[in-house]
Amino acid sequence: MLKRTHGAGTLRASHAGDTVTVCGWVRRRRDQGGVIFIDLWDRSGLVQTVFDSSDAAAAHAVADQCRGEFVVALRGVVRPRPAGTENPRLDTGAVELRVSEAEILNPSRTPPFLLTDEQVSEEIRLLHRYVDLRRPKMQANLALRHRVVKACRDTLDAEGFWEVETPCLIRSTPEGARDYVVPARVSPGGFYALPQSPQLFKQMLQVSGVERYFQIARCFRDEASRADRQPEFTQIDLEMSFISQDDVFAVVERVVAAMWQAGTGTALATPFPRLSHEEALARFGSDKPDMRFGMELQDLGDLLAGSELRVFQNALASGGAIRGIAAPGCAGYSRKQIDELTELAKRFGAGGLVSILLDGEGGFRSSIQRYLTPEQVKELQERLGAGPGDLILIVADRAAVVSEALNRLRLHLGQVLGLIPENDWKFVWVLDFPLFEKDEKGGLTPSHHPFSHPKTAEDVALLDSDPEAVIASVYDLAVNGVELGSGSIRVHDPELQIKILEKIGIPREAAWERFGFLLNALSYGAPPHGGIALGVDRIAQLLAREATIRDVIAFPKAASGYDPMLDCPAPIEPEQLAELHLAVVLPAEGE
Ligand code: ASP
Repeated sequence: MLKRTHGAGTLRASHAGDTVTVCGWVRRRRDQGGVIFIDLWDRSGLVQTVFDSSDAAAAHAVADQCRGEFVVALRGVVRPRPAGTENPRLDTGAVELRVSEAEILNPSRTPPFLLTDEQVSEEIRLLHRYVDLRRPKMQANLALRHRVVKACRDTLDAEGFWEVETPCLIRSTPEGARDYVVPARVSPGGFYALPQSPQLFKQMLQVSGVERYFQIARCFRDEASRADRQPEFTQIDLEMSFISQDDVFAVVERVVAAMWQAGTGTALATPFPRLSHEEALARFGSDKPDMRFGMELQDLGDLLAGSELRVFQNALASGGAIRGIAAPGCAGYSRKQIDELTELAKRFGAGGLVSILLDGEGGFRSSIQRYLTPEQVKELQERLGAGPGDLILIVADRAAVVSEALNRLRLHLGQVLGLIPENDWKFVWVLDFPLFEKDEKGGLTPSHHPFSHPKTAEDVALLDSDPEAVIASVYDLAVNGVELGSGSIRVHDPELQIKILEKIGIPREAAWERFGFLLNALSYGAPPHGGIALGVDRIAQLLAREATIRDVIAFPKAASGYDPMLDCPAPIEPEQLAELHLAVVLPAEGE
């Protein structure tokens, strides 16, 4: 068998005259009778090979049998391409391999799709993922992900972190999603849960004195399949002892800068700016603001407080808000365009949208014309930094609805108006989240998870008197409007931990039952500690500039967690069920 000496994509003019052996896949074959050309591809790239029946009849006969994606080994002499036939788009475009010996290592069935075809349906691609991953784009994505994760590992290693593996068969960790569970054959009726994150293990490793832990951790969350969510995903999970929030930020900034350098060659400016959660919502309507452009939200409540318009009055009377944005140069928007913006606002919960089109002569047209005085419009204009030719959009509703609707309008308009510089990376830390949020039933639920520490001693004191007002040392890192990760300084006092669990409806006894191991660990000398987790898939997707996260995961799930290649989830054998002491009760038809 011929033994490879060179990668196909590594051959250059400097190799001219060398005898080499390349191995790879037949990407394209052109038969010109006495001469056959094969574009041979391997991980390193593509090279043109030539089989001439006049001086290498045996090799030509092998080439004659080759078809797309056959695996071959080819030996021959590298020579410059004849003048005028060089291909500047190919790294190997100055040379070709004149083959004297050829061997088919393995034939291939006709590939399920052309590897050069960009239009193949994702279902077919996932069904034959092993072939799909042979495409240059997918190869580039795998390579990029490798480089980026390596940069992360190297940086954390240099910072004194230890990579520690934590188990995948555990008791459930609350991160806000449902658990995937695994029945335990040897304890009938018992189940493990797959980790939603290594949260409690990394905390216990701090109790163990590891001080600086990280893991490129696989996490599992059984969430309603939101677009572009994977049931299993990868996190850079890290935790540190004897640190403050600033120390976590500094380490993460160095890690992220190294990853961006490895992924794009871009040197990021650090430190990243910081916004409090409150300020992020006030200025951008989002806790992961896209900071690449302005069009910030402004509070207009005071200016419109005297208005006779019902929606304004109602919003303010019920503790809601009136806020707006100004879209530059949009005063000429048609009725239809305004209707589309209104629809968008409604889709995100707003009852309606007020528009004010500022014409060139200092006049205005508005959906609430008769409720507005020219003076009021002037004040609104000043507050929003708007001028003639601009469009003012106002939402009055519950504060959360106002934020979300204006956030969506801002992002939409930023996009269509071309205000967002595509090649910019604008990172931002969002911090000081409330410890709790209200759940649908009116109870308290952690805004991050229940292991986050209140920010100050005053916040600890507020736990009893006004838990909703407690600010926590919880932080998110976002870039260009995408959340990359969250973390917090943790509770290290077992009594405080119990108190917080009680607030979210887990009484002391139940807390000991579910989290006894953690509470015990905290009571055996837990150092103050904190950490964060960053989404690897999301980072790779951003760096690869892919539209879907699936294109940076080697073997992703399709919609609803289905794997077309493995055809699973799938039933298991009755014997397996019996062994596990399980019975399957299917929902009735239509449920
Ligand atoms: N465990 C958290 C998560 O997975 C991250 C953290 O708090 O460090 O979101």
